[in-house]
Amino acid sequence: MRRKLAAGNWKMNGTSAALSELDALARAFPSPSVDILICPPTTLLHRAAETVRNTGITVGGQDCHPAASGAHTGDISADMLVDAGANAVILGHSERREDHGEQNESVRAKARAAMDAGLKAIICVGESLEQREAANTLDIIGGQLSGSIPDQSTGENLIVAYEPIWAIGTGKVPTLDEIGEVHDFIRNRLERRFGEGVGRSVRLLYGGSVKPSNANEIFGVSNVDGALVGGASLKAQDFSGIIDALQ
Ligand code: PEP
Repeated sequence: MRRKLAAGNWKMNGTSAALSELDALARAFPSPSVDILICPPTTLLHRAAETVRNTGITVGGQDCHPAASGAHTGDISADMLVDAGANAVILGHSERREDHGEQNESVRAKARAAMDAGLKAIICVGESLEQREAANTLDIIGGQLSGSIPDQSTGENLIVAYEPIWAIGTGKVPTLDEIGEVHDFIRNRLERRFGEGVGRSVRLLYGGSVKPSNANEIFGVSNVDGALVGGASLKAQDFSGIIDALQ
């Protein structure tokens, strides 16, 4: 049985004052029946971890470097995320692929480093609107899956997030059939590559304009085990509505 996961990606949002939202979330869900993960900016990670210590909420990073340490100014290693209190890291988000030219190969190297450090790697895949309109969605997702996911993946250390780029922060959401088609495809690919046991145990998240108002129907789609949420994870009240829909 896959445990549901509500993951929040704060992106480059939040200074110290934002920790009060995390505190409010922890108070709203003293013993959640689903996993709750918040990925704040790295500057807040350690304090966020302290804020949720001994609660059912965990924290994660938004990226890591493939190397363990060294001359990589401005980068963060997986061990550093662990040291700051993280248990997961988002990798290959489309904004990183776009802003930093990240390719599948480097996402895979980062995921390897994350898994070696004991982190869960949340690997993001998703098509652009152009690719969807050209009926290339499954080809694109298939390539991202085989290129970005390392061989050492298990149901414990890998989570895949399907995030159509055109749905992120836009208020546009694919139809439930479209979400279902991609999630079934991802499940199938994971089963083929890793075998049924591992393939069936990896959690698949949907991401892209998830809100309290649409969460319920999205969580009803087969092979959707939760959500990766951007904008609606910034306020405890909005994120609580999504968690309620998942519980
Ligand atoms: C995201 O960036 O991962 C995301 C899903 O953003 P939003 O929920 O704001 O669309």
